[in-house]
Amino acid sequence: MHYAEPVFRPPSESESLILQVTVGCSHNACTFCAMYRNKSYYVRPVTEVLEDISEAAARWPDTSRVFLGDGDAMAAPVEVLTAVLKALRAAFPRLHRVSLYATPMNLLQKSAGELATLRALGLCLFYLGLESGSDEVLRRVGKGATSAEAVEAVLKGHAAGMKSSVMVLLGLGGVEGGAEHARATARAANLMQPGYLSALTWFDVPQAPLHRQMAAGRFHMPGDEGILEELQILVEGLNLRDSVFHSNHASNPLALSGRLSRDKERLLGVIAAAKEGLISLRPRFLRGT
Ligand code: SF4
Repeated sequence: MHYAEPVFRPPSESESLILQVTVGCSHNACTFCAMYRNKSYYVRPVTEVLEDISEAAARWPDTSRVFLGDGDAMAAPVEVLTAVLKALRAAFPRLHRVSLYATPMNLLQKSAGELATLRALGLCLFYLGLESGSDEVLRRVGKGATSAEAVEAVLKGHAAGMKSSVMVLLGLGGVEGGAEHARATARAANLMQPGYLSALTWFDVPQAPLHRQMAAGRFHMPGDEGILEELQILVEGLNLRDSVFHSNHASNPLALSGRLSRDKERLLGVIAAAKEGLISLRPRFLRGT
């Protein structure tokens, strides 16, 4: 297997075979993200990817889950993704889930028919960073898509039969804009109705441009109190019919997990207890990305 390091994948793909179809991120401009700063984006030659699949099939023939890397493998041309998905189906008889990261623009730039073809070939789940429902925040962090575009992209994926896992980033609104960031994010998530919604907390990394803005005093990251306030506003504003909600990523001070339609009051009770100091927050030295 050939990997251009470092390789990232969602926590829920820890058991999956990771197969790099692209390297880096085609956007690579979000100021809060340092994941692919040292990589130039490119689509790997299909022959190389097919060689990796053959090698993986010989070593792990019972593979049932595959995650296509890197930062937005959905950016790859549909011909590339089609060839990879067909090869995966042929190589792994037990395969039942293929997933990848997608940006809003990746999804919007593919036609409905192309997405339906990819779904029919086994691509069933995409992870998408909404980050914020506030266009002001999205513009400031260079996300490259508006809230409405992100909503349209997720709904387009759903229409093709894919499931979505959407991530939002607490803290991105700064101290001053945290409440509006959380309210707008809840509104966008409600329009999306994702299969999974995960709240992460922005974690300062020196390579991220937002780190330099913070050091220069142009961005003020909320402390734990502010993050809990955002989490509370977010959960209060969510009206999700069947979504699973998590805030159990290692970046968060408070881990929550539940199905919003059933567990919303319980989750709000946990947040209220944490705000009153009745529940311990995750120690800072255990937090990370
Ligand atoms: S957050 Fe996603 S889209 Fe933005 S630079 Fe990082 S990997 Fe690329």
